[in-house]
Amino acid sequence: MKKDIHPKYFPKSTIRCACGAVFIVGSTKELMETEICSQCHPFYTGKEKIIDKMGKVEKFKKKLAQKEVLSQKKSKNKEKSKAKK
Ligand SMILES: [Zn+2]
Repeated sequence: MKKDIHPKYFPKSTIRCACGAVFIVGSTKELMETEICSQCHPFYTGKEKIIDKMGKVEKFKKKLAQKEVLSQKKSKNKEKSKAKK
């Protein structure tokens, strides 16, 4: 290995998850934090759980509601135009 070009290696660095799980791995960073890991991700747990980060689910629901209102208005307009004929 060349000198002074390699980052410091931590054979026992820590990854901490928001769910409380802690992993010990080898890394160039001593401490890492994460929001999701294999202990709490629904893919691994098999439980259905919506991970709402930054209110994205809420935003999507709002969007969906707006879309429905719009489509209802559109269909009403269509009915009106049919009635005129
Ligand atoms: Zn986790």
